[in-house]
Formats: sequence, C-alpha cells, structure tokens
Amino acid sequence: MLNRRFPAAALLASIAVGTVVLNAQEADQQKPTLAIRAERLIDGKSDTVVKNAVVLVAGEKIVAVGSGLRIPAKATVIDLGNATLLPGLIDAHTHLLQNYDFALGGDDPNMVLTVTQMSPADRALLGAKMGREDLEAGITTVRDVGNSGINGDVALRNAINHGWVTGPRIVASTRALAAAGGQFGKLQSDAQALVEQEYREIGTVDDARRAVQRAFYDGADCIKVIVNTGPRVVSLEEMKAIVDEAHRVHKKVAAHAIGDDATRIAAEAAVDSIEHAYIVPDDVLKMMAAKKIFLVPTDYPEQFYESFVPANATPDERQEAEAGMRRFTKGSRDRLKRAVAAGVPIAAGSDEYYQVGKRTRGQSSTLIYEAYRESGMTPRQIIQAATLGAAELLGWDDRIGSVEKGKFADIIATSGDPFEDITELEKVKFVMKGGEVVRNELVSPATR
Ligand SMILES: [Zn+2]
Repeated sequence: MLNRRFPAAALLASIAVGTVVLNAQEADQQKPTLAIRAERLIDGKSDTVVKNAVVLVAGEKIVAVGSGLRIPAKATVIDLGNATLLPGLIDAHTHLLQNYDFALGGDDPNMVLTVTQMSPADRALLGAKMGREDLEAGITTVRDVGNSGINGDVALRNAINHGWVTGPRIVASTRALAAAGGQFGKLQSDAQALVEQEYREIGTVDDARRAVQRAFYDGADCIKVIVNTGPRVVSLEEMKAIVDEAHRVHKKVAAHAIGDDATRIAAEAAVDSIEHAYIVPDDVLKMMAAKKIFLVPTDYPEQFYESFVPANATPDERQEAEAGMRRFTKGSRDRLKRAVAAGVPIAAGSDEYYQVGKRTRGQSSTLIYEAYRESGMTPRQIIQAATLGAAELLGWDDRIGSVEKGKFADIIATSGDPFEDITELEKVKFVMKGGEVVRNELVSPATR
C-alpha cells in the first residue's frame, strides 16, 4: 500500500514545488519596472475617467492600473502631468503598402503605376514609412486589408515583430479575394496578368475555398474580400464558402461592400465586418446588428474631400465635384447614424491610401473621428470604436484595446480631454507600444 502510494505522493510534492517555482518566476516577471502617471485615464472599458491615474508596466505588459497606486521604489516614473491616458488607437482598415498621388487622377492610373513600377521591396519599405507615421500618431495596431502586392503586408508585419523596423502591430490579410479584375479599371488582355499581383480572382466556390487556404499558407491573419466592383459581384455561395473556410480555422473575414445587393450578400454570409457600406438598406443594418457584424465606416470630414478635386479643374468642374462630395458626405453621415441607431457594432477604420498634402499617414488617418462626430457619435462611442470595439473585431481583445492588467502596454496620451473634444485624438502627444516609448512631447521621463 505504502509503496504504491509513495510515487503518487512524491509526484504531487514535485508538482507543488514546480508551481511554487513557476509563481516566483511569474512574480519576478510582473515586477513593475515602469510607472506612468497622469491626471486622467480613459481605460477604454468603463465610462468613468480614472483621476490621478497610475499604470504599472513590467516588460511589454500592464501589471496594474488604478488611482494613486503606490509606485515601487525601483520603477522608472514617466509623469505626464495633467494629460489624459488612453489605450493605443486601432485602425481596422488601412493599406500601408500603398500611397497614391491625387495628381495622377484617381485609383485606376495609381494602381497600374504602383503594380508595374514598384518592386515588392519598394512597397515594403514604403509600408515601413507609413507604419511608422501611424504609430507616431498613436495608432498602435492596424488591420491591413490588401493592396500590398504579393504578401508584402506579411513581410512588413514580420519585420515589425522582429524589431527590424518600428511600426504598429499588424493584422495582415495578404491579397484580397475578388471577382474578375479585382479593383482594376480597364486593362488590355496582356496586362490582365497584373491583377494576380494585387488580388486573388475567384469565380467558383472551389476557387473561393482554395483562395482562403492559400491566404493562410501565405501568412494571412484574416481574409479580405471585395464583394463588388461595379457589376462584378462575388456570389452568395462563394461568400458563404469563404466565411466557412476562414471560420473553420477561427479567422475573421472583412468584406468590402457598397450598395443594397453587395452588403446583403456579405451580411447573409455572416462576415465579421462590412467595410465602407456607404449605401446600405435598413434591413441589412438590422441583420448586421443581430449577427454582430461590425460596420467599418471609412468616413472623413467634408473639407477633407476637397483634396480629391484636381488642381487643374475648371470652376464648373470644381463646383460639380464639390456638390457631388456634399451629397456623398450627407449619405455617409446618414448611414452611420442609422447603423448606430440599429445597434450595429462600429470599428474605426480609415481606408487611407493617398498622400494628403503634407500630412503624415497617421495625421490623415485620425481625421475619421471628426466624421464620426458629425454623424452624432459621442466621444465615448468613438473612442470605443477606435479601441476595444476594433480589438474585438480583430479578435485581439484579449491583448489590446484597453488599459487593463495583462494587456500589452500600448498607451497614448493627449494634453486635453478627448471626452470633451474628440479632435484631441488628432494631436496625440505621447505614444507607448509594448512598454517602449515611441514619442513623448509632454515631459521628459524623470528617472528616480
Ligand atoms: Zn480599403
């Protein structure tokens, strides 16, 4: 009896010792080495503002958050005075390996020139610049949704993860799946080989499944589908196959869809987010709310669209273009209002892919919050869409999206209060990603 029991007891004892050792190691890793102090904290989760906030960081993670927390003696203190701390911003829809020029006359000529003249290396390096500009503006995570050449987004994501270049965390999609021609305009037959450089064309349910599997083989974290481009529309059967194939391996599907038919196909197929949806009927919004499908409203303040008017436009052309933009803006404001009222979850996304004046990529991407405000969203709702809401859409709400114990120390600060004025998010003064300070224009860190 004793002999039989002894091994079990010894085994239990060794497990107990092992647990103690592990806990000691864990405790050591969780010893805060850094403390961030500020007047206010919007943690991304609760409605209330934490006053006299202290965030304790160990390595790349947050270990404690609260009001007036005791700061361990050996910790470095970053005192941001009367600033407001927030979780790092998330852009759920961007294209880092693409930076178009308005002067070339729109998407079609830009896409042909980008694909024919820029090597994959050129584009990855452009992406490194765009990524750094996003991060410096406070965008600590992006979902990059295609137009990266062949797997350039995966290369950039990996380079950032290796520490080769500085940039946001990236959820990459590789090439977007699309019907014939992708989003290219007219191409002669010989030139149609270019489409495969930028999109995965699908024409059958089998194509759709194979394209999803190929994307994951190529390193995708999620799937992007262009549901419609003019009269080329991915079928409901193909969309269902895409969603089934992605969800089978617990990955998400983002669907570019505009108009009644395309948004309905995307919603019926139960994608995870519908991008743009500038035109979308109320019954589709209702379906989105019921299925918890996110809307990613890629909207801008009205004056932003003025940069779309070519510099050489005649006064008549300019007037006509501006009237069109006013109609477009009015339509976008109306559909976001209807979506929020219907209870559709919102994730912030810029769809920025043009060089806008002298603005950095991050400076133009953060203008979307003003458009959301013009649609009646409250600062609280906007911050939610740009932090925890977007994190949920990415499937990363276990690691980012709020200033909370156990999450990555992706923290930004503004000098004013974004609950009072949402444009504070266009003027982020302090950026930390994974416990490392990227930018600090508030005060120099005081080591004690
Ligand atoms: Zn886009």
